[in-house]
Amino acid sequence: MSATIIDGAALARESRSETADRVAKFRAAHGWAPGLATVLVGDDPASDVYVRRKRKAADAAGFVDFHRHLPGSASETEVAVVLEELAADPAVSGILLQLPTPGHLDSDELVALIPAEKDVDGLTTLNAGLLAQGRPGLRPCTPAGVMVLLDEYDVPLGGAEAVVVGRSPLVGKPMAQLLLARNATVTTCHSRTRDLAEVCRRADVLVVAAGIPGLIGADAVKPGAAVIDVGIHRGENGLRGDVDTAAVAEVAGLITPVPGGVGPMTIAMLLANTLTAATVQQGLRPAA
Ligand code: NAD
Repeated sequence: MSATIIDGAALARESRSETADRVAKFRAAHGWAPGLATVLVGDDPASDVYVRRKRKAADAAGFVDFHRHLPGSASETEVAVVLEELAADPAVSGILLQLPTPGHLDSDELVALIPAEKDVDGLTTLNAGLLAQGRPGLRPCTPAGVMVLLDEYDVPLGGAEAVVVGRSPLVGKPMAQLLLARNATVTTCHSRTRDLAEVCRRADVLVVAAGIPGLIGADAVKPGAAVIDVGIHRGENGLRGDVDTAAVAEVAGLITPVPGGVGPMTIAMLLANTLTAATVQQGLRPAA
């Protein structure tokens, strides 16, 4: 294996501990701690695990927990009422609606009920628009975490060829915009891209978020590239990503493992976003 393995778990621990210190300072200054509301509808086992991890990390960092769990049969109005209550509660700094929601709910309509200043997943139209315009706002946690990983490992972005595989509003699109904001030359690939491997081979920085296990093999990677694997799949042999890690590690310069790469950073960025949200709501400038 030639690639350096990016230790997302260690960087996430550092980030969470920094956030915890800042939460303690916030509490000392204001007499109350910022609150995170996670809203889970239904009993999807994977969503349940993700929400538990987020709440545990938030609790450990000193945030107040405002978790709400609704049954999978909840109507859109019932979920909307909960989101509106949380939106109006000044003790709630951040609101996260765990996606995907059950099929009978319109998650876009529900996300639209989250005030932009509490939208710690960066999914509202306002935050997505601010990102598209390169203006400050709350950024989606996973792509924000990828940017931290790239910076911590000193991956040059200005003028670099970056290829993002996937164009979802949660990962691929904001990822491409964040890389563009750092002056990378960005190409987005998706399910209709012709010859995916050929496009990916151009990349100095390759971020893969397609949701297909092992989609990217060594033939799709330029020697020395930084390869970030966002995919998470549960199989009989544990977790794996969208990248064939063993094969790609022979070619890449840097690679994220699954687990222990992007996943932990997503949670760390959720905590950082919640503190930023609380700080902005107090009319203060967030720490850089
Ligand atoms: P999604 O299904 O919403 O989007 C997948 C994207 O991949 C689509 O834009 C689609 O066009 C593209 N795609 C599908 N097939 C393709 C192909 N053959 N070639 C090129 N592109 C193709 O998924 P998502 O929410 O963006 O998540 C992607 C993956 O990342 C999933 O495995 C998900 O579990 C994982 N994920 C991980 C984290 C984390 O914290 N690590 C966070 C969010 C999502």
